Amino acid sequence: MRTPVIAGNWKMYKTTAESQAFVKEFLPLVAGVQGVEIVLSPPFPSLSVVAALTSGTKVGVASQNVHFAAEGAYTGEVSPGMLKDAGAGYAIIGHSERRQYFAETDDGVNRKVKAVLAAGLVPIMCLGETLAEREAGRTFEVVERQLRADLSGVAAADAPTVIVAYEPVWAIGTGKTATKEQAQEVHAFLRGLVKEIFGGLVAEKIRILYGGSVKTENIAELMAQPDIDGALVGGASLKANSFAGIAKYR
Ligand code: PEP
Repeated sequence: MRTPVIAGNWKMYKTTAESQAFVKEFLPLVAGVQGVEIVLSPPFPSLSVVAALTSGTKVGVASQNVHFAAEGAYTGEVSPGMLKDAGAGYAIIGHSERRQYFAETDDGVNRKVKAVLAAGLVPIMCLGETLAEREAGRTFEVVERQLRADLSGVAAADAPTVIVAYEPVWAIGTGKTATKEQAQEVHAFLRGLVKEIFGGLVAEKIRILYGGSVKTENIAELMAQPDIDGALVGGASLKANSFAGIAKYR
């Protein structure tokens, strides 16, 4: 039985005061939610504040990025240990915006996944095809290449800790959600690949989230799919009411 994960990615939105106001409004709204891991991913400056406010609650905190080194001369970067120290339990890695605007590669994603696991954090590892790749019939080839490269060298014992987020790039921030059938098809394919790489037990345990214009209106039908274990939510995670509505999908 896989515990579902509903994670909100605030991207580069919300000051510290706005983050605090969100958490104060949000926590009572999700107080009754059982059996769902809820995660907030604020910008770096608000991370420790959100972590302190959610400490001892069912809500966890993720960073939106991380560096793979433990420390060093990497101006502007933040290490896994520093994130843990600030109260994060998860790190989003390889979001398509990082791949698109910051030249993040599968090799870099792979190094980050391994570093984050070694530090005792949970990687939320994003992958997905672009519109051109889907239209060219290359979806499965692309996500297979990403999954294999991003998880290369990860020990089978660590693999169930990894959360995979399938985010078709054409569905992110566009209002175009993959249909439940399109999402399920890719999720089942990814789980099959995990089985091939790490074996059946890992494939049964690993959580695969869907991301791409998830909202209160479509979360229930997505979550009803057998291989969809949660959602990574951008726009609809910015308002406490709408994100709580998603976390309360059942
Ligand atoms: C995201 O940023 O990961 C995302 C899925 O965004 P949105 O929900 O706005 O499409």
